[in-house]
Amino acid sequence: MATPALKPNLLDLDLAACEALVTALGFKAFHGRNLFKWIHKHGILDYACMTDCPKGLRTALQETVTLRLPRIIHTQPSADGTIKWVMELEDGQRVETVYIPEDGRSTLCVSSQVGCALNCAFCATARQGFNRNLQVGEIIGQVWHAARQRGAAPSNVVMMGMGEPLANFEAVVTAMAIMQDDLAYNLSKYRVTLSTSGIVPNIYRLREVCDVSLAVSLHAPNNPLRDQLVPINRKYPLEELLPACRAYLAADQRRKITWEYVMLDGINDSIQHAKQLIRLLEGTPSKLNLIPFNSFPGSGFATTPPERLATFRERLMRSGLLVFTRKTRGDEIAAACGQLVGRVDDRTQRGVAIAGIRPPAGPATRCHAP
Ligand code: SAH
Repeated sequence: MATPALKPNLLDLDLAACEALVTALGFKAFHGRNLFKWIHKHGILDYACMTDCPKGLRTALQETVTLRLPRIIHTQPSADGTIKWVMELEDGQRVETVYIPEDGRSTLCVSSQVGCALNCAFCATARQGFNRNLQVGEIIGQVWHAARQRGAAPSNVVMMGMGEPLANFEAVVTAMAIMQDDLAYNLSKYRVTLSTSGIVPNIYRLREVCDVSLAVSLHAPNNPLRDQLVPINRKYPLEELLPACRAYLAADQRRKITWEYVMLDGINDSIQHAKQLIRLLEGTPSKLNLIPFNSFPGSGFATTPPERLATFRERLMRSGLLVFTRKTRGDEIAAACGQLVGRVDDRTQRGVAIAGIRPPAGPATRCHAP
C-alpha cells in the first residue's frame, strides 16, 4: 500500500477527476459530485461529516487518498481592510495570499509558484528566485482558506500573487476550473483573471482550454525598455505579444485585455512613453491599469510623483484609452503588487489592532481537518 505522503490529494482534483476517482472505487459518479461539493462549497474535509457519503466510500477514500491543504501560519490585517495570509506548504515553503475587500465585493490575489523565475527588475518576488510550481491543491487551497476565513467565497480571484501563472500552466488551469465550478466557488469567467508577464505560446494555449479574463504586465511601450524591465520580452517581444493578446480576445468581442503598467519615476512615465503606448495599443481592445510602484528595500526604483502620473494618465485618456490608476492596497504589510515574498518578519508579528476587521474565524466548521 502507498505511504500516506504518496497518496493522491483530493484537493488536486477537479470535478471530473473526483467523479472518476469515485467510480474507480466502485461507487456512482454523483457521489464524486457530492464529495467535490462538500470540500469546496461547504469547506468540509472530514468524511464522517459528509452525510450522503456511503460508509464503504468513506473507508475506500481513507485508504486511497488524502486531503492536504496549505496551512495558514500567519494572518496579517492592514488598516485598509486588506489581509495577507502567509501559507506554509507541506515541504515548509511559503507563499502569500492577499484578500482585498472593497464596496461589498472582495478580490483574492492568489500565488501560483514559490518565487518566480522571470526576474522583472522592479518585483520583490523576483529577488527570491524560483523555487517550485504550486500544485492544484496548493493553489485552490488558498481560495478554500479565504472562503473559510471570511465566511464566503471571494467575489473575484486574480492570479496576481507570487509567480508566473502561465509557467505553471496545467495546475493553474485546473485550479481556475475549480474556481469557476458552480459546485465549488462558482465564479464567472469575468471574475477570474490570470495575469502574465507575456509567455506568448501559453497565451495561445490558454485560449484553447479556458476563457478567464487576461491581464498582461506591460510596463513599457517599446522593446528596448521592456527588455530591461520584463526580461521575458527578449524571448517574446511586443510584436509577438500583441497579436497573441488579440487572438485571445477574438472569441469574445466584449472583452478587453487589462494591461498593467507600473509607474517608475523617470523610467517609463514620460509623455513620449504615453504616446508610444497609445500607438502600441491601437486596435487592441484595452483597459490600462497604472500601478504606483510599491517600493521594497533595495529596489532601486521610485514611484512616479502624483502630478506626473496624472499628466501621463490624462494624455492616455485623451486618446480614448480606458485608464485607471490602481489604488495601492496593503502597502504597509507588504501585501501590495510586487511585494510578496512569503516571509514572516518581525514587523508582521506585531499584531496590528485595526478597527473594522473581523478577527480571523477559527476553524470554519466542527468538521475541519486536523
Ligand atoms: N507574473 C505575473 C503575475 C504577477 S501579477 C505577471 O507578471 O503578470 C503582479 C503584478 O504586480 C504584475 O503586473 C507585476 O508586474 C506588478 N508588480 C511587480 N512588482 C511591483 C511593484 N514593486 N510595484 C507595483 N507593481 C508591481
